[in-house]
Amino acid sequence: MTDGYGRMTPSQWPASLLPHSPHPAPRLARVSGEPPTPVTQPFMPPLAEYLPYLEVIWANRWLTNSGPLHQQLEAALEAHLGVSHLSLVSNGTTALWLALQALKIGGEVITTPFSFVATAHALRLVGATPVFVDIDEHDCNLSPAAIEPALTERTSAILPVHCFGHPCDVTAIGQVADIYDLKVIYDAAHAFGVQVVGQSVLSHGDLSTLSFHATKVFNTVEGGAIISPDARTKARIDRLRNFGFVDDMTMASPSINGKLNEFQAGFGLLQLGYMDRILARRAQISARYHAALGDVAGIVSFRMDDAVRPNHSYFPVLVTQDYPMDADALCARLHAAGIMARRYFHPLICDMPGYRDLPSARQPLPVARRIARQILCLPIHPNLSDDLVDRAIGILADV
Ligand SMILES: *Cc1c(COP(=O)(O)O)cnc(C)c1O
Repeated sequence: MTDGYGRMTPSQWPASLLPHSPHPAPRLARVSGEPPTPVTQPFMPPLAEYLPYLEVIWANRWLTNSGPLHQQLEAALEAHLGVSHLSLVSNGTTALWLALQALKIGGEVITTPFSFVATAHALRLVGATPVFVDIDEHDCNLSPAAIEPALTERTSAILPVHCFGHPCDVTAIGQVADIYDLKVIYDAAHAFGVQVVGQSVLSHGDLSTLSFHATKVFNTVEGGAIISPDARTKARIDRLRNFGFVDDMTMASPSINGKLNEFQAGFGLLQLGYMDRILARRAQISARYHAALGDVAGIVSFRMDDAVRPNHSYFPVLVTQDYPMDADALCARLHAAGIMARRYFHPLICDMPGYRDLPSARQPLPVARRIARQILCLPIHPNLSDDLVDRAIGILADV
């Protein structure tokens, strides 16, 4: 029997193609005992639902290079996110690198020290110099007011991050960029699905980049995307992610291999069908934390504007001087109870090797330094139970 496309069903596959024959099943190391509660955990749809995607891949014998699942995922993500011109790439760091290459960014780039290292690494990788400026305490994002004083004649662009999925002040950043003729590339690795007054936060700036790493709200194991403003820019990015090839015969300019494969695209398509449930569970957990932590003196959580549709990608809090212990001590206490809170993003990028000798790293950056001292991210992911949320809350409240 074959399916509607003339393909064999797995029960008809020759024994030599079946995974148990003739090779022994691999002995997999499994985690045993009561596992600690991670700060995040990937959502895994039922394994059986992934198998049809594998069957499609086996039938097509098309594993990578913009295959049918890849094309389907690009279209599905554009529809889901409410954007046009999305290019899938191999990861969020490659997305940043490609975005900077596509816009020929060099010289100095204004950016935030309060982010994952990849934001600044991408600048280094294209030969640009990061210029770190201070952040705002209400959203942890690059402060628009800090841009102008940091400009020099070598400044070419601004690279802000929608940190923790909190939207940047895109209007203020756009105004400075217009006045000084600067490009704006948003690192939107945390901002999958975030909207402001019904519009995707990904539609601002010259380009936005996403990460689909396993730790992110939406994942393709490893993966990422770039959102371009028009078809021409997308075509340029699509060439750059494929060695610079325009077609089979023509290579326009040297570039890297930044492709996503069919296995990842299939995993993404499957995961996308669960996004509403994933976000609903994250929203419940976030509401539970908010309701309980409002009463804990010295712990400050972040509340977004009503105009924002958040994605609850992280649950950051500030452990202020009114709390009986500092963020490090509280984090250690949670770890001792098996709750693996994380101190994203401490230390600041500007205090790390490779960056700390830059002139901008020696600026005071008072807000960034205080937030980095006080920050603590509590566990939040769709598999987290109310019990575990309450245990975390209990530890914070019981000091
Ligand atoms: C995760 C992340 C990246 C890098 O994404 P990868 O897919 O892991 O390469 C870049 N910027 C920020 C802010 C991130 O959190």
